[in-house]
Amino acid sequence: MQEPCCLERYPAMTVVLSNLVSLLIYGIGAYILFRISLILTVIYVLFILFLEFRLLGRHCVDCYYYGKTCAFGKGYLSSLLFPRGQPERFNRKKITWKDIVPDFLVFLLPVIAGILLLIQQFSWTVLILIIALVVLGFFGNALVRGKLACRFCKQREIGCPAEQVFDKTKNR
Ligand code: SF4
Repeated sequence: MQEPCCLERYPAMTVVLSNLVSLLIYGIGAYILFRISLILTVIYVLFILFLEFRLLGRHCVDCYYYGKTCAFGKGYLSSLLFPRGQPERFNRKKITWKDIVPDFLVFLLPVIAGILLLIQQFSWTVLILIIALVVLGFFGNALVRGKLACRFCKQREIGCPAEQVFDKTKNR
């Protein structure tokens, strides 16, 4: 099957859908943790902000889409917040599962917290939100990356360490 050609800039609908999945995960996660305590919610939101700024300031600055509209719109956002990095550095980065685990924790921690809430007292709302988090976290992210983002990504064509990690996992 012929590889789809890469996009110089992604359509607005892709940016909306890609961010919608993340924002739904963040919103549901924060709501579940808020049912336990406000402090936990604040820590969770700070953790998300740390991960987003780490991406914008350490990865997007070196990416091909710096200053452009990538599938997440973060290439452009990064150019508003940080000076250009070194494109050749993007490809040299060694990314391992250790670097990716924090992104999984964003939806796994609220799932664990939700299960603890259910053990304490059953609630259909919490159960449905846990199921939604698992679906969005695994299938939603995979769909966005597989069908909307990485598939048309110029940086993937140039070389992307994160894609190599998933590829290795995929080819096992
Ligand atoms: S493709 Fe990924 S690394 Fe590149 S600018 Fe967009 S979010 Fe950042």
